[in-house]
Amino acid sequence: MKGFAMLGIGEVGWIEKDRPKVGIYDAIVKPIAVAPCTSDIHTVFEGALGEKKNIILGHEGVGEVVEVGSDVKDFKPGDRVVIPAITPDWRTMGSQRCLPQHANEMLDGWKFSNIKDGVFAEFFHVNDADMNLAHLPKEVSIEAGVMLSDMVTTGFHGAELADIRLGDTVVVIGIGPVGLMAIVGVKLRGAGRIIGIGSRPALIDAAKFYGVNEIVNYKDGPVDEQIMDLTKNKGVDRVIIAGGSPDIMKTAIKIVKPGGVVSNINYYGEGDIIPIPRLDWGSGMAHKKIVGGLTPGGRDRMERLLKLVQYNRVDPERLITHKLHGFEKVEDSLMLMKNKQKDLIKPIVYVD
Ligand SMILES: [Zn+2]
Repeated sequence: MKGFAMLGIGEVGWIEKDRPKVGIYDAIVKPIAVAPCTSDIHTVFEGALGEKKNIILGHEGVGEVVEVGSDVKDFKPGDRVVIPAITPDWRTMGSQRCLPQHANEMLDGWKFSNIKDGVFAEFFHVNDADMNLAHLPKEVSIEAGVMLSDMVTTGFHGAELADIRLGDTVVVIGIGPVGLMAIVGVKLRGAGRIIGIGSRPALIDAAKFYGVNEIVNYKDGPVDEQIMDLTKNKGVDRVIIAGGSPDIMKTAIKIVKPGGVVSNINYYGEGDIIPIPRLDWGSGMAHKKIVGGLTPGGRDRMERLLKLVQYNRVDPERLITHKLHGFEKVEDSLMLMKNKQKDLIKPIVYVD
């Protein structure tokens, strides 16, 4: 079968591989629609996860089940399913002891395009199908389903990690697709004032659509100064980092109030150190909490998110700005993500 792969750091291309084999609890799925992700860009072009040879990319998609293992109960060939980007090993002790995202080792719940071949393939393997796949209800579009794989769940996890309280003032740094979904998550959890940090007009329009009250453009001056002005030098209750280089942590620590939370859902592609400014962190005594985590994965998570779409709490389709047709277009879609032209939020590729 054919797949679009990372050949090595900085290099991508089409490769031929054997069709994956199904285990007793697993499924083989063929893609219906997939999307590239900024994390594919970090992985390939920044080598953020180290050298990887000939690993098929992609971890966001909706597909059709083509084969299931002998012990799979709830899925059968022909079923349309949402593929979560994170597919933990639910049957290991580690997922009881620790978080399923890190069941056996750090980040190992993230399998596609990280530790095994991803979804930019004619067929791909899903471990533990009953625990990781979710049926796509007929009320939910394919496009929304693809956005649930990673964008929605990761963005919402930013709001969960931030522990948003009713009426909080929240800054979301980075209003790309994940930041936009963080804005929705923050709103659903009852924030008061929501401020987005960004500059591209297409993203600012989307941020307003999804519920920000104000936008701070980093091109208009230092973000921390602008936020302190807007809040009369009080700072904010919660900060969600959904983009930026490691130095963005300095800004986040500066603008969060004592007792506040900085929630990181950003994948830092480079740099060895993430700096914490000593004085702004109260020399270590300000109770400014920093949390960061990989989104939960699996079926229950996806079914909950599907309900939010089905009952109109979130409209993820608004993220999609570019629609491409044909499997071979995954290559173009990845380049769109790399070059980030002005009007781009998120591309999707229909594998027809
Ligand atoms: Zn992704």
